[in-house]
Amino acid sequence: MPDRRANPAGGYVLLLHLEHAERIQVGRLGAFDFPPAHYLYFGSALGGLASRIQRHQSTQKRLHWHIDYLTATARVEQAWWAAGRERWECLWAQTALEVPGISLPAAGFGSSDCRCPSHLVQAPSFRAALSLRCRLPGNPKIWRPEDAD
Ligand SMILES: [Zn+2]
Repeated sequence: MPDRRANPAGGYVLLLHLEHAERIQVGRLGAFDFPPAHYLYFGSALGGLASRIQRHQSTQKRLHWHIDYLTATARVEQAWWAAGRERWECLWAQTALEVPGISLPAAGFGSSDCRCPSHLVQAPSFRAALSLRCRLPGNPKIWRPEDAD
């Protein structure tokens, strides 16, 4: 059971849905053509998952991280999380990129501070995106709003 009173540090995955093809300028990384698809973004929030996930779900925010440029257009459908200070986001991104059908839509996205090719992957289908959760190390759980209470 998660500690419901806490804002635990940990890694998180955003399951994003982009309904229409969009050309998106991702800060200084460049402009990329994103096809309509489900995407998974891998991040970490050492200052607390609850506040970070809430921020990603908000449409009113200053564009700071690469992911902010995508969440300005794509909808966050689910968030998954695992507590701890491991570099979950790198482990998960590398695991995901080895799964057949998973592709890399924007090289360098979210991975300026590590050696991963990207912290954003594109799933071939919604089902494929969902089924990735049980393949990720650390058994990430689905984030529920009450986890932030
Ligand atoms: Zn990484």
